[in-house]
Amino acid sequence: MNPPSLDRRLLMERSVRGRRGSSLPPLDVPPQPLPPEEHLRGDLELPEVSEGEVVRYFTHLSQLNFSVDTHFYPLGSCTMKYNPRVNDELAQLPGFSQLHPLQPEETVQGALKAMYRLQGFLAEIVGMEATSLATMAGAQGELAGMLMLRAYHLSRGEADRRIVLVPDSAHGTNPASATMAGFRVVTVPSDDRGNMDMDALKGACTGELAGLMLTLPNTLGLFETNILEICRTVHQVGGLVYGDGANMNALLGRAKLGELGFDVLHLNLHKTFSTPHGGGGPGAGPVAAGPLLAPFLPSPVVERHVDGDGRERYSLATPEHTIGKVAAFHGNFGVALRAYAYIRSLGAAGLREVSENAVIGANYLLSQLKEEYHLPYDRPCMHEVVFSARRQKARGVRALDIAKRLIDYGIHPPTMYFPLIVEEALMVEPTETESKETLDHFIQVMKAIAVEARENPQVVKEAPHHTPNSRLDEARAARRPDLRWRGVGQAAPSGV
Ligand SMILES: *Cc1c(COP(=O)(O)O)cnc(C)c1O
Repeated sequence: MNPPSLDRRLLMERSVRGRRGSSLPPLDVPPQPLPPEEHLRGDLELPEVSEGEVVRYFTHLSQLNFSVDTHFYPLGSCTMKYNPRVNDELAQLPGFSQLHPLQPEETVQGALKAMYRLQGFLAEIVGMEATSLATMAGAQGELAGMLMLRAYHLSRGEADRRIVLVPDSAHGTNPASATMAGFRVVTVPSDDRGNMDMDALKGACTGELAGLMLTLPNTLGLFETNILEICRTVHQVGGLVYGDGANMNALLGRAKLGELGFDVLHLNLHKTFSTPHGGGGPGAGPVAAGPLLAPFLPSPVVERHVDGDGRERYSLATPEHTIGKVAAFHGNFGVALRAYAYIRSLGAAGLREVSENAVIGANYLLSQLKEEYHLPYDRPCMHEVVFSARRQKARGVRALDIAKRLIDYGIHPPTMYFPLIVEEALMVEPTETESKETLDHFIQVMKAIAVEARENPQVVKEAPHHTPNSRLDEARAARRPDLRWRGVGQAAPSGV
């Protein structure tokens, strides 16, 4: 007998008539009649399987996926790092997780206090005056920030400030957010070192300027070395500077954006502060603002009061010139709690260590791999490094092929084809929580793939070889998923 290949039968195909997956306890409520006959279907096919079979089936399915818990996951810009379990546990304490958002304030003082403190910690970390936790994603933070910029200029009677400058090394959500807020986006090119082109910036700074949106570090993984001059130049013509701080793990404890000249920014708690970014789960993109824009923050924010008898009390408040609500209630509270626990457990010294490890890890990869992979901007990077598969492409092996080949080696692919200004980009973010052994393994694998690309390109171009499915039409799989089981002879409904 040959060893069996992977058991790929679907649950329906494992069904055996009469087999049961659960035994219900005796009824402890009065029995209720079934719905009327015409609502019942006698022909509904359901899998009849044992509990063990169900567990085995779904556990196996879950293991076909890549996750930070099972694989190295260097997906650039996404910070797929290890997040301590204790922060999840804290967020799940019943005193937090069982709250209702409409409960009277006096019954949720502890929760409000945690939010208040987190607002303060985040403002301190980035050098701003005030924070709103209301926004539920990085991109939503950007939109809120842009609406604040607009409200600010309108409040000063400067409705003609309609232009927002966005460097070509910004995150793709930046121009989209500025456009959604009603601005006209003008792109500022990068120079050959990966910084913003200062002449182009100066040329674009006119009386029509509302502001600049700048990702720091930029999507090349580089720190804008002219940042002080950039902020000054924009301020000189009455514009404001928005900072995309989604990748703050590069700067924690090192640089405060408020002190560099930024007026408003967002953070991604679901990257830097202990909630994973992948998987489409809940996120939080708090907005922090300096003195000019703090009155415009989205509502609510949490305020602290001290009563006459010295007792402290917390309440939800509305900033004076708020842009209003951007989401239901007050943001993703569970994500905020994880961030609160993360900051409290690391402390100031721990946060500094995060950025140190993030930056050293990325520079280690840069130094070890730049022989094999073209490095478009040859200078020290921040928390991530962008290579180009330009040399490999000359042999017909593209960034996509290298990414797919990594799957065969048990490594999640890096971000590909982004940033757009790098040909065949491979954007690698090792994150601060990976060991040197893991990074060494990755280096070894990337070097092996570079050799394959030279000597046996076909093996890379046809990868992955060890997964149940190889190359999918990913757009079609996402837009027209085929999720319904059909028995033999049952055709798919037309159009699917
Ligand atoms: C992830 C990211 C965003 C967008 O955050 P979402 O929560 O996915 O909307 C914006 N800017 C940068 C630099 C990012 O890395």
